Amino acid sequence: MYRTHSNGELRIENVGQEVTLAGWVQKTRDKGFMIWVDLRDRYGITQLIFDADRTSKKMVEEAKTLGREFVIQVKGEVIERVSKNSNIPTGEIEILVKELTILNKSLVPPFTIEDETDGGDELRMKYRYLDIRRNPVKNNLIFRSKVAIETRKYLSNQGFIEVETPVLIKSTPEGARDFVVPSRMNEGQFYALPQSPQTFKQLLMVGGLDKYFQIVKCFRDEDLRADRQPEFTQIDCEMAFVEQEDILNTFEGLTRYLLKEINGVEIDKFPRITYEYAMKTYGNDKPDIRFDMKFGELNDVAQHKDFGVFNNAELVVGIAVPGGNAYTRKEIDNLIEWIKRPQVGALGMVYVRCNEDGSFKSSVDKFYTEEDLAKWAEKTNAKAGDLICILSGNTDKVRTQLSILRMELATRLGLRKPNEFAPLWVLDFPLLEWDEESKRYHAMHHPFTSPKPEDMHLLDTDPGKVRANAYDMVLNGNEIGGGSIRIHDKKTQALMFDHLGFTPEQAKEQFGFLMNAFEYGAPPHGGLAFGLDRLVAILGGQETIRDFIAFPKNNSGRDVMIDAPSKIDDAQLKELCLKLDL
Ligand code: ASP
Repeated sequence: MYRTHSNGELRIENVGQEVTLAGWVQKTRDKGFMIWVDLRDRYGITQLIFDADRTSKKMVEEAKTLGREFVIQVKGEVIERVSKNSNIPTGEIEILVKELTILNKSLVPPFTIEDETDGGDELRMKYRYLDIRRNPVKNNLIFRSKVAIETRKYLSNQGFIEVETPVLIKSTPEGARDFVVPSRMNEGQFYALPQSPQTFKQLLMVGGLDKYFQIVKCFRDEDLRADRQPEFTQIDCEMAFVEQEDILNTFEGLTRYLLKEINGVEIDKFPRITYEYAMKTYGNDKPDIRFDMKFGELNDVAQHKDFGVFNNAELVVGIAVPGGNAYTRKEIDNLIEWIKRPQVGALGMVYVRCNEDGSFKSSVDKFYTEEDLAKWAEKTNAKAGDLICILSGNTDKVRTQLSILRMELATRLGLRKPNEFAPLWVLDFPLLEWDEESKRYHAMHHPFTSPKPEDMHLLDTDPGKVRANAYDMVLNGNEIGGGSIRIHDKKTQALMFDHLGFTPEQAKEQFGFLMNAFEYGAPPHGGLAFGLDRLVAILGGQETIRDFIAFPKNNSGRDVMIDAPSKIDDAQLKELCLKLDL
C-alpha cells in the first residue's frame, strides 16, 4: 500500500497514529538537525519533519538529498505541531518521519509549482503536466469535471441517453473549415472530423431514441481569434416530438440546475428576447444584461438640424454611461481615440454631459438646443450625472461599434461581475445571412434549421427576412448554447439546399443519407448544443476557456507540449498516396 491517507486528510484527532503518505516535495526547509518538507498531492499539503534527535541522523541525511518535485513515500507518526498554520487544513499536525523512500527523482522544474508561478504561458503549456500540479489549474479541471457530472445527472434524470457518434465522418456544415483525415484503405479519399454531431443526432431521432445527449469533441478549422480552440467540447442534445417551447424549458432547466448545484445561485425564468430586439437594443445577438445601458435610437430627434454627420447617417444611436459625467475632458478624448482604433473602427463620437442640475452640455452645442439634448437623454434613459455617448453611420457597423463600447465601459465601471449570472434566450434568428464574399445566402445556424412556417412565403421574394425556429442561450454576454427545430421532411430540406445554392446532385452527394432517412418516418425534432468549455469558464467566473482545458492548443493551433501538428515520414505519405506540394 503506497499510502494510508492523502496529504489533505490528517487532523489533530489523528495525533499518535502511524501513517504512510506519498506525494511530491513542494519545498524543504533545512535547519541542520531538523528538516521540514511540504508533501503535496491533489488533496493538499502535509508537513513532514525529519529530526536527528527524535529519529536518527540518517533520516536527516536522507532528507537532505530531496529536491523539489521528488516523488517520495514516508512512514511516520502524526504529531502535534509546535507552530501551527491556520491557512491549511492539516496545519495543526506534522509527520515525524521514520522511514523515507524516494519513489522517483525529479529535475528542477522550469517554473515554480505554486498558485502564483513565475512561468510564462508558453513554458507552462510546454510542461503542462507540471502546470496541472498547481492549484489554480487543478481546481479548474476538478470544477469542469463537476459541471460535466452534474450535466449527465440532470439529463439522465430527464430520460436522455448518452450516445457516442463517430469521429471519422463526412463534412458537417457548421460554417467552418473541416479538419480532414486521409483514408489509407480508400485511396484518395478523406474523412472529415465532425464540426458537430448534427446529422447523426438527427438520425438518432429518426432511429427513435427520442432524447439524446453526448458530451462530445467537435473540430473546426477556424482562424483562432480570441479564446477559441480548434477542438472543443459540446454538450450536444436532441429531442423528438418537441416544439421550440419544450426545448427552451428543458435546457433552461439544465442551466438553472447547474447554476444552483455549482454556484448556489437560484435564477427565475430566463428572459426571452428576439434577435431583432437584441440587435436594436444591445447591438449584438449575445447581450450582457447584468447591466443596463440600452441603446437609444436618436434619428428622429437628431436629424432635424444642420449637423451633416448625423443627417447623412443611416443610424444615430447612443448609450447613457452611469456616472459618466465625472469623466474629465481628457478621459473622454481617450475614449474617443479608443473607439477610433481600427479594432473598433468608429469615425468619431458625439457626447452629452448630463449635469447634476439637469442641464446638458454636448460636443455639438453649436447645432442642438438643451431641448434637443433633453430628448436624447430621454431616449437613452440618461440620468443626471451620466454621459451619453453617440455614434452614427451605417446601421450594422454602428451597432457593432457601440456594443463594443458598451461592453468596454461596463468592464471599466466594474458592472460585469463574475459572480453574477444573467442568462437569457435570444429567439427568432434569421434563417439566412448574406455572404458578401460568395455573393449568396448562407444558413445562419445550419441548413437543417426549419424556417418559421409563417415566413415561408418570403423565401423566394425576400430570403433575408425569413426567420428561423432557432434560439441561442446567452449567459453574461456569451453565447453558451444554440440550436433549432429541424426540418424533418425531404421536400423542405431539398428547398433549403436549393436556396443555399446546392444543386440537387450536390445535396444528394453530401446529405443524401439524411434525405433518405427523412423518407422513412422522421419524427418532428429539434435540439441544441452547449459549448462546455465556455460554460465552465463562465460558471467558474473566468474569461478564458484555455484555463479549463487540460491540454489546450495555442493561438496557432499547436500543442507545444507534444509538438503537434508535425511532419509524417515519407513511408506514411506513400501509404496514404499523398504528395506534398509546399
Ligand atoms: N449543431 C449545432 C451547433 O454545433 C447545434 C444544434 O443545432 O443543435 O451549433
